Amino acid sequence: MSIQWVYPEFEVIRNNERCIRCQVCARQCANEVHCYEKELDAMISDESRCVNCQRCVSLCPTHALKIVRSDCRLRENANWNQDAIREIYKQAQSGGVLLSSMGNPKPYPVYWDKILINASQVTNPSIDPLREPMETRVSLGKKPSQVRREENGRLNCALSPQIQLSMPVMFSAMSYGSISYNAHLSLARAASELGICWNTGEGGLHQDFYQYGPHTIVQVASGRFGVHKQYLEAGAAIEIKMGQGAKPGIGGHLPGAKVGPDVSRTRMIPEGSDAISPAPHHDIYSIEDLRQLVYSLKEATAYRKPVIVKVAAVHNIAAIASGIARSGADIIAIDGFRGGTGAAPTRIRDSVGIPIELALAAVDQRLRDEGIRNNVSLVVGGSIRSSADVVKAIALGADACYIATAAVLALGCHLCRTCQTGKCNWGIATQRPDLVKRLNPNGGRERLVNLMTAWNHEIKELMGGMGINSIEALRGNRLMLRGVGLNETELRILGISHAGE
Ligand code: SF4
Ligand code: SF4
Repeated sequence: MSIQWVYPEFEVIRNNERCIRCQVCARQCANEVHCYEKELDAMISDESRCVNCQRCVSLCPTHALKIVRSDCRLRENANWNQDAIREIYKQAQSGGVLLSSMGNPKPYPVYWDKILINASQVTNPSIDPLREPMETRVSLGKKPSQVRREENGRLNCALSPQIQLSMPVMFSAMSYGSISYNAHLSLARAASELGICWNTGEGGLHQDFYQYGPHTIVQVASGRFGVHKQYLEAGAAIEIKMGQGAKPGIGGHLPGAKVGPDVSRTRMIPEGSDAISPAPHHDIYSIEDLRQLVYSLKEATAYRKPVIVKVAAVHNIAAIASGIARSGADIIAIDGFRGGTGAAPTRIRDSVGIPIELALAAVDQRLRDEGIRNNVSLVVGGSIRSSADVVKAIALGADACYIATAAVLALGCHLCRTCQTGKCNWGIATQRPDLVKRLNPNGGRERLVNLMTAWNHEIKELMGGMGINSIEALRGNRLMLRGVGLNETELRILGISHAGE
């Protein structure tokens, strides 16, 4: 008989006076924690299976349930903490690579929380966004670095293809397969209503979602799943995924169990087969190779779509971005190490990459120094949590931000971090039909629209407080930022002064 080495991480506390034995909790828990014991006329729980997703807590009609972190601790010390010991036990049992989901949870510095925004006082008046015009629209793509005129003296206003956004935020890549049909539908409908973009991720575009093409970014990743001419033509822009913040340097793996008929059709792979995207694109080993793919995609779409190159934030990100800006790409998307994922090896997620704040500042500065900043727009993601993070990112040099974890939180995600199991009780990171239908796509659309509308109001308020009335004027305006508790090196890389200076 195998013994359980550790006490369960979470405890189910049921108030038996409130519990009416309706068995809602048993029906709602895909991890099969609860069951009704007829002889006892009582609900019982196998707590070892609980991942603390809070589904049963939220739906219990009498609020009889609580899930709490167990206070039964292993004998940890400053070196061997709970997680380290538990992970050793897990690997000793399984012999496998540890897998996790969502973003890096380790206590590395969150620089957004160490950067403060300026406000106008007296001589440079603030602007009231309720009474005065405030521009949050942005267009992403190459911009001319100087005013150009035709031979007859007329202004040449022709621009390379651009993405037009009503606000500087987009939903970033999450593939069909890693998240559900209803999650994709919620994102697509919300993006269309808001006038922003959502992103297919690497799993292709379900046939039902071609109608949302003008607000869709179609991704081309190393596995090339679901990539064909109509797919490329359907999107507002094409994104080449070279890297992802949660797992820089490695590819992706969608287990065969998640590849049902619909996912198989969309990805153009056999049903039930694992979808493995290799770590590199096997046709890209230099910036020249990348340039070939950028131009192949432009050629395939008659030069009507901007091409985005997405990379993970790593040590030499500024040099990488400089190369990409010269490759013909129109937009660079940089994904920080806190970016979420449906599944990643835990060690990679927690130990590889750099914070997006430092990567962004370094890239923006390098492109300015080299006089090529206008060759590309910069989009950053990797745990953008609020409108204040967006404003700070733009002042540090971004043109727009990508959000994904914030978007799935709006859809109901409770950050239980077990997306890789495919048993998401909230209908988001799952393909199980009974779970998928728990997410109402219209309710999801509405919550996403509400979140973005609220952020847009807040962005206007923050800009108004700074005496700035457009995203364009805020972009790269680092004078509007001050650091707190940062050392000289951090301030130098961020290109900002310390508070009080
Ligand atoms: S896994 Fe979720 S639904 Fe199941 S018992 Fe735990 S909190 Fe409740
Ligand atoms: S998407 Fe679902 S499984 Fe993943 S963290 Fe959120 S609630 Fe948990």
